[in-house]
Amino acid sequence: MAGIHEGPEFGIGDFVLLRELSLDAFMENLKLRFEKSKIYTYIGEVVVSVNPYKQLDIYNSSYVQEYKDREIYERPPHIFALADNAHKTMKRQSRDTCIVISGESGSGKTEASKIIMRYIAAVTNISGQKEVERVKDVLIKSNNILEAFGNAKTNRNDNSSRFGKYMDINFDFKGDPVGGHINNYLLEKSRVIYQHKGERNFHSFYQLLSGSQDAMLSEYKLTRDPQKYNFINQGGDPKVGSINDKQDFRGVMDALKATGFTSDEISTTWKIVAAILHLGNLEFVGEDDATINNQEEPSIIASLLGVTKDNLVKTLLSRVIAAGGQVVDKLLNVQEAQYANKAFSKALYDRLFTWIVGRINDAIDPKKGGIVGKNTVIGVLDIYGFEIFDNNSFEQFCINYCNEKLQQLFIELVLKQEQEEYMKEGIEWQHVDYFNNKIICDLVEIPHNGILAILDEACLNVGKITDETYLEAMAKKLSKHDRFTCRQLEPADKTLEHHRDFRIKHYAGDVTYSVIGFIDKNKDTLFMDFKRLLFNSSNAVLKSMWPEGAQSVNETSKRPITAGTAFKNSMIELVQNLASKIPYYVRCIKPNEVKSPLLFDDTRTRHQVMYLGLLENVRVRRAGFAFRMAYDRFLKRYKMICTKTWPNYKGQVVDGVRALIDSQGYSSDVKYGKSKIFIRSPQTLFALEKARTAK
Ligand code: ATP
Ligand code: MG
Repeated sequence: MAGIHEGPEFGIGDFVLLRELSLDAFMENLKLRFEKSKIYTYIGEVVVSVNPYKQLDIYNSSYVQEYKDREIYERPPHIFALADNAHKTMKRQSRDTCIVISGESGSGKTEASKIIMRYIAAVTNISGQKEVERVKDVLIKSNNILEAFGNAKTNRNDNSSRFGKYMDINFDFKGDPVGGHINNYLLEKSRVIYQHKGERNFHSFYQLLSGSQDAMLSEYKLTRDPQKYNFINQGGDPKVGSINDKQDFRGVMDALKATGFTSDEISTTWKIVAAILHLGNLEFVGEDDATINNQEEPSIIASLLGVTKDNLVKTLLSRVIAAGGQVVDKLLNVQEAQYANKAFSKALYDRLFTWIVGRINDAIDPKKGGIVGKNTVIGVLDIYGFEIFDNNSFEQFCINYCNEKLQQLFIELVLKQEQEEYMKEGIEWQHVDYFNNKIICDLVEIPHNGILAILDEACLNVGKITDETYLEAMAKKLSKHDRFTCRQLEPADKTLEHHRDFRIKHYAGDVTYSVIGFIDKNKDTLFMDFKRLLFNSSNAVLKSMWPEGAQSVNETSKRPITAGTAFKNSMIELVQNLASKIPYYVRCIKPNEVKSPLLFDDTRTRHQVMYLGLLENVRVRRAGFAFRMAYDRFLKRYKMICTKTWPNYKGQVVDGVRALIDSQGYSSDVKYGKSKIFIRSPQTLFALEKARTAK
């Protein structure tokens, strides 16, 4: 194992120490390190991580020992050091910390979050308490479950997270994990019914077909061949080289059991997945009113969902409407029935996913483990990365908005606050320019004139509002915004493509969103009939997922909050939560588009370095100081190492600090602000700490 220093052949371990700072120098160092399989490099305390696209033997237990309880500068750059630091700081300061992992789709965020969790599991619970072991086991195994139901192969990433995840891990006063809580954000449920070429549905569908035992499969009336099911065969190829569905199914089963899912809960879970496969194969036919062409499917679905066939068919083909005190059944035409069936399938899966997260949360609820009194948390954020597809819709819009919010947080915390503090303290400082993406966050989220507000207004309109009129409303209100353009092209030649889209110049690149489906996805309605149907299921587990189905036909419910606004609110809350904790950053970079361990695509990588603001990060850091502390606290902590300040200093505190620093010979490494001392290099701090403990 490499010692404290890696040696010059591996480049420089901290970009702050680059001899000359330029984008070229940055790229050269990043490339050199990638080629030498040194995938981690620091910018101060920020970890830059490049996806190696190969297994590296750098996470084993001897590495864990190397990084455990060490300061970040004592060992070569590693994500373990960051995890250790977040854990140590939480323990020492008794404050919540969080680890924010960002980067585009396929850059390695989910892998990083798992590596961090495994590290924390490896360095805690030395005394081997049973309950702590159980919590650790569930925390780690919950990843298998969540990935099975929430990840899918996309054209960017074979195991792409299609939901956002923020996980709090609770620790007791000794620093051992005693529980946790997961927040999930907006699952991309349109995938349940539709996949682009080359993509797949969520892994769970393929796992069930290839991994379940023959008896289970025949009970669910399924065959092993994914090509037979319309909801999962649209991408073309159901086999993914890097994925073993059969083995993963076993892993998920094991994890469900370890988490404490009962056998009823496990079978209900898979029955819902099976029912969706069958729902996708329903054929609706008819001139006016729709009927179902398949003989067998409705009874199979009804039995899987624990409802009667008659009720199921009625719900699929008609809709109960309460009008003027009267309740009438309105029959659906083929198009309406197909639409309703898809909405039903998406809602079934989405609700299943949220329920699964809830069950995992029950299993790791820190209160349940008998934990009383103070406990602190480490939050780990792993969310879908910025993405641009050939065809981008409402889901990409939400995902990319979320990435804007995280970039904004990074700017606020790392770039802006740092500079503002120097200015406030009167420390000599050369301003570093950076692109502040607040303007794009505002474009999406401000009341009245933001993209989401205009969308909500369109959805409220009961008249004939369409995606096109929504686009026109945006064109009118946002035409002056220099990060936004709209186009509505209706070519006279009908064979040419229509364009109804808008474009946002995101911090990470320009994305064109097709406006088709925005209204529908934002309204996100599921007819009450379906909710009532499921609430009346004889399967108690399934019934419990649909409590709102208890409402009777005549009760009018409040207009539910739209999907876009709900997402916006959850993002604002998330950012506030992160901002209240001591943050640690992992900035992930994708070296190429072809998942190769050998290729460092300079253009693509350079683009990411630029939009992530890494160079600005180095500049701020270089001009800056590693450490700062209020004068009085500083003097109290170190006064024993200097005869002038020990046992007490009579004069002004700042003079005492000055005397102390001078006596140790560090005057050239510090600056004196209005209320704080600023220390440039971490080594000075280490030396002070050492001197202190030696006394
Ligand atoms: P998305 O935003 O699409 O969810 P992501 O940033 O979470 O993307 P990951 O799923 O973590 O990306 O990584 C994609 C793939 O890259 C992994 O499945 C794995 O094959 C590889 N990979 C990422 N990080 C590592 C690593 N540290 N070591 C080995 N392989 C890695
Ligand atoms: Mg991911």
